[in-house]
Amino acid sequence: MATLQLKNVIKEFGDTHVIKGVDLEVKDREFVVFVGPSGCGKSTLLRMIAGLESASDGDIVIDGKRMNNIGPAERGLAMVFQSYALYPHMTVEDNMGFSLRLAGVSKAERKEKVLDAARILQLENLLDRKPKALSGGQRQRVAIGRAIVRNPSIFLFDEPLSNLDAALRVQMRVELARLHEELDATMIYVTHDQIEAMTMADKIVVLQGGVVEQVGSPMELYHHPRNRFVAGFIGSPT
Ligand code: ADP
Ligand code: MG
Repeated sequence: MATLQLKNVIKEFGDTHVIKGVDLEVKDREFVVFVGPSGCGKSTLLRMIAGLESASDGDIVIDGKRMNNIGPAERGLAMVFQSYALYPHMTVEDNMGFSLRLAGVSKAERKEKVLDAARILQLENLLDRKPKALSGGQRQRVAIGRAIVRNPSIFLFDEPLSNLDAALRVQMRVELARLHEELDATMIYVTHDQIEAMTMADKIVVLQGGVVEQVGSPMELYHHPRNRFVAGFIGSPT
């Protein structure tokens, strides 16, 4: 069970107002996509949810608990970035199990969790490989595997597919949808790609200049965009 609420969340870097009062409700097991042009504040918002950045004002609430002063490790989240940052000298298995090792999880339990994640991600046959012997898509799956082994209640993805070629992106979208089904997890997914948003989301949050322009299902946004920006961005006829 994992819900998230943002209540009038604000972020200022000095005089720069990057997030200007965001309110949002994410339900348990929802797949929510933050979409908007480059620089609109998607990553900043995600990093505040993750606890990697502090909010200047407002509240971040997970499962009813205010998280503002709680560190990233205690929030029950796992984040997957655009740059996978795998450890080059470690095998796939060790990359996926590394955070568990740091957390003091026994070798046997680590192996079990890594194997479970590898099965879900179809990486079982690649566990002994080093990252340089993997394709881009396989590396991205390892990065997702590192998040899965931690069994987070909420997954945060920051443009995880943007380094992949078009065909692989399509394939990974399908795999992420399957993952969402299989893991029964709440997922928040950031992208600047409208097609990703329209095909993957239960709920889309359209951002522009640090403000939420509209929140709704892909069909709601397509058929009832609230303004020209949303219509233009989502590609609906209005
Ligand atoms: P997006 O992920 O939507 O492309 P970001 O959240 O990365 O946007 O950035 C939103 C705005 O905040 C940008 O104008 C960016 O320059 C600014 N910004 C992000 N991080 C910092 C920072 N640490 N210091 C100052 N400005 C920042
Ligand atoms: Mg970003």
